[in-house]
Amino acid sequence: MKPGISIQMLLAVVAVLASSAALAQNDDFDSVEIIPHHVRGNVYYLEGRGGNIGVSLGENGVVLVDDQFAPLTDKIVAAVESISDADIRFVINTHVHGDHVGGNENLAARGVSVIAHDNVRLRLTQASSPIAARPVLTFPDSAMIQLDDEVIEIIKVPPAHTDGDSYVFFRNSDVLHLGDVFRTTGYGFIDTNNGGSAAGTIAALQLAIDLAGPDTIILPGHGMLSNADDVREFMDVIIEVEQRVSALIEQEMTLEQVLAAQPTADLDERWGDPERFLTGLYNSIAGM
Ligand SMILES: [Zn+2]
Repeated sequence: MKPGISIQMLLAVVAVLASSAALAQNDDFDSVEIIPHHVRGNVYYLEGRGGNIGVSLGENGVVLVDDQFAPLTDKIVAAVESISDADIRFVINTHVHGDHVGGNENLAARGVSVIAHDNVRLRLTQASSPIAARPVLTFPDSAMIQLDDEVIEIIKVPPAHTDGDSYVFFRNSDVLHLGDVFRTTGYGFIDTNNGGSAAGTIAALQLAIDLAGPDTIILPGHGMLSNADDVREFMDVIIEVEQRVSALIEQEMTLEQVLAAQPTADLDERWGDPERFLTGLYNSIAGM
């Protein structure tokens, strides 16, 4: 075989692979449906791809909590229009991850103001995100939006999933969005690269339990509507695994050794693949 032909063939294969990868990515978002679910009172959530989007409806405006991925913005706006005649006025980012802030730039172009903790803006800036994708309203501790019948409290929590985590409490509807500090789809994720912390995760989950009343509906970053008992169960798992991993770190085990020891073997059937959780936990406890 002449070398020229094999290079041509190689290039053709690369081109096909590249275009099919691009197609697969577009198809991915093309097939996503944004489904509104009523939670209680003025509050809905949108299920699509990425973090659950909280929605507060009022005559004078709609407030969103997180906005998933940029290719989904038109569908997200259409889903909001299917349940409200009012414009989207604000989007609150619970934290910096791309499946929660990906629609910021598109929404900002529609005149929506993005609100988040100072650290969300700081990390988006450090990551050189487009200026229009960064929150324009930031706060160090808490903020409040009072629009129509809802009082929306945005509360910074200890560094947990990241160092910019906020809870969003729809006071009148008694619904509490916990972002990715809480999920029902698997173990938690302590993103130490974005300032997450094991001790902070436990403190933040305790705060959620303290904030919640007996009837409060908890909206997780990923997964199903829950209540304070579900958060406590999730927190207890993290406390238990934190103790197991701490004991292994005291025996000077490396991360690889901790993973090989399968310290969550009895829990994985319920909570799934533990690798990402154990890695974050290990890095946080060992101060890596
Ligand atoms: Zn996240």
